[in-house]
Amino acid sequence: MTQSSISIPRELVAALKAARYVAVLTGAGVSAESGIATFRDAQTGLWARFDPRELATPSAFTRNPKLVWDWYAWRRELVAVAQPNAGHRALAALERRVPRFLLITQNVDGLHQRAESRNIVELHGNIGRVKCSREGTVVERWEGSGDAVPRCSACGALLRPDVVWFEEMLPADALEQAEAAARECDLLLIAGTSAEVYPAAALPMYARRSGATVVEINTAATALSELADYVLRGPSGVVLPALLASLATPGGSGAM
Ligand code: NAD
Repeated sequence: MTQSSISIPRELVAALKAARYVAVLTGAGVSAESGIATFRDAQTGLWARFDPRELATPSAFTRNPKLVWDWYAWRRELVAVAQPNAGHRALAALERRVPRFLLITQNVDGLHQRAESRNIVELHGNIGRVKCSREGTVVERWEGSGDAVPRCSACGALLRPDVVWFEEMLPADALEQAEAAARECDLLLIAGTSAEVYPAAALPMYARRSGATVVEINTAATALSELADYVLRGPSGVVLPALLASLATPGGSGAM
């Protein structure tokens, strides 16, 4: 699929041009074209026999901290060599074109920041950070032999990735900002998320109830597809640049 094969409805281009406040909710699909697998994609090699959803839980860390630590260390390495893709860059460019903008991401890979998006709320933390599993203090540096999970130099508890695991609460301030944006925005773009994980999955309903235009960008149908005003079917690395390019067309016409 190429950018020129995506058709952006004229009314959507007009709504995007008129929007004073654009909010965006992104999920793992946005980073798929950067080579970072979604949890639903099959894992390869060493990790093929684990279900990621079973490793990303507090109980997995209690049961086998080394397994969970090593899995995150492996993912951290993948993220470090990955590059932001055209979808990340289009969102950063869109931010510079609209009066008010908030990017709400469920991703933990930091690729939006590396693509130079500025106003970002991370709902699920960041894999690049590590925190004390007892006090939650973020730790900048840690030492590990590789044989054991490193420990907090202040209290001796195990260190863990600064991400929100299944069964854990989201950071209250991040969630508050995201909910306010969903209620106040004129247009909500939802890209690359299966929208099955709450409370992030509720954000589109808030936007819808407040009268915002809701747009879904995804390669496949989701539970949100029915609720969205517009569904742009395709990879976000192609659709988001096409949406951005449609803003350059005169008037409300953006069919391309
Ligand atoms: P998900 O795996 O549940 O869903 C991914 C969605 O992206 C699917 O609906 C799929 O159809 C769609 N998709 C796949 N490739 C796409 C593409 N190229 N363009 C557009 N859409 C595409 O992901 P989720 O909804 O983000 O929820 C899973 C949880 O896993 C999140 O909480 C997240 O924190 C975590 N996670 C994060 C990363 C990351 O940071 N990159 C990677 C894996 C999982």
